[in-house]
Amino acid sequence: MVLEAAQPLGAETVPCGDALGRVLTDPVVSGRTLPPEDNSAMDGYAVRATDLAAGPVALPVVYDVPAGGRAPRPLAAGEAARILTGAPLPPGADAVVRQEDVERTGDRVRIPAGRPPRGFVCHAGQNVRRAGEDVAAGQTVLAAGCRLGPAHLGMLASLGSSSVAVHARPLVALLSGGDELVEPDGEIAGGRIVSSNSYTLAAACREVGADSRYLGIARDQPADIERCLRAGLRCDALVTSAGVSVGDHDHVRGVLEKLGCRLLCFGVRMKPGYPFVFGRFEGGAGPLVFGLPGNPVSTLVTFEAFVRPALLAMAGHAALHRPRITVTLAETLTKEAGRLHFVRVRLERRDGEVRARSTGNQSSGVLRSMIEAQGLLIFPAEATRLAAGERAEVQLLDESFLASTGSGL
Ligand code: AMP
Ligand code: MG
Repeated sequence: MVLEAAQPLGAETVPCGDALGRVLTDPVVSGRTLPPEDNSAMDGYAVRATDLAAGPVALPVVYDVPAGGRAPRPLAAGEAARILTGAPLPPGADAVVRQEDVERTGDRVRIPAGRPPRGFVCHAGQNVRRAGEDVAAGQTVLAAGCRLGPAHLGMLASLGSSSVAVHARPLVALLSGGDELVEPDGEIAGGRIVSSNSYTLAAACREVGADSRYLGIARDQPADIERCLRAGLRCDALVTSAGVSVGDHDHVRGVLEKLGCRLLCFGVRMKPGYPFVFGRFEGGAGPLVFGLPGNPVSTLVTFEAFVRPALLAMAGHAALHRPRITVTLAETLTKEAGRLHFVRVRLERRDGEVRARSTGNQSSGVLRSMIEAQGLLIFPAEATRLAAGERAEVQLLDESFLASTGSGL
């Protein structure tokens, strides 16, 4: 339901220097041939390969072609030209002999015999980079939907582009709600707590290339919530934390509906994160709305499950989900049937497999469990027991785990 609503945002043109990780809206068709002409892959001497076929020769060096230079005239039979890497091959020449393979004396160059057993062979095309061997004019070099990495940006530059059209970055409005909340420099005496979720969520947005706008902390009163929410209605997504469950002071849902948001989902059979809300405005007249539960772990797990893929889809990405790996349980896990559990787990490679162990206390208030976890183990809704030694699926939070090696592997 979320992904159906999360359509790619329109295009914006950005400098190539700022486009890393962005997604192309249109294919890139080359207006150029690269390299534009045959050129030398080595420092050495441009020759005609047939001149070397018979035996060792000493050829006059008739001119030099530096990188960025050009031959003053075609190379005739029986001549050589000094040439540097990247310089265009003189007309008439068809090969380059490396300078390491020859002896230069004055304005002559002595080139060894043209065949083995001395091991020296020169054939047409040797050490020559052909015009168009990288890119042909008219060729589609990058497809629409392609995520721009370092090589893509270098290619765009080579094609003469200093800017590129990419999907816009989603702008996410973030609202915290609760009378108990203060900012990190606030006083926590008297049952107050720091609104850590705004930091967690801003960072989680940034990690997927989305921008965020912090709307502050709304008090548990409909008027204050409405005032704060209105400031986020022009964003692409509105993410609230807390105030969406059934508590006496949970007014967020009511205010959203008053503002014209149609709530499509309330409550997901998962733990942590049951009281998750998703809504949208008719005809896309407002942001996609994600009401996340306030407990810090629930906030981050529901972000992972629902908001992160939606933001990636809006930015045009095709890969929306974290990698999943199969692990072996290092300990037995039990739960009641009814909800899918995302168990925070530590992973270890041992004896050719990945072993998973719970981070311990799985309370949705224990944010440390997310710091220690490398992944979320999927404990299916109807299952009640996963025994030590059994296999299970883990959604990786720490993708660098894929590149890690451990003892025994
Ligand atoms: P609520 O959804 O309002 O019932 O909140 C559930 C739990 O999450 C409560 O313990 C809140 O104190 C906590 N909580 C709510 N908002 C935040 C926040 N922005 N940062 C950290 N914890 C929060
Ligand atoms: Mg609250």
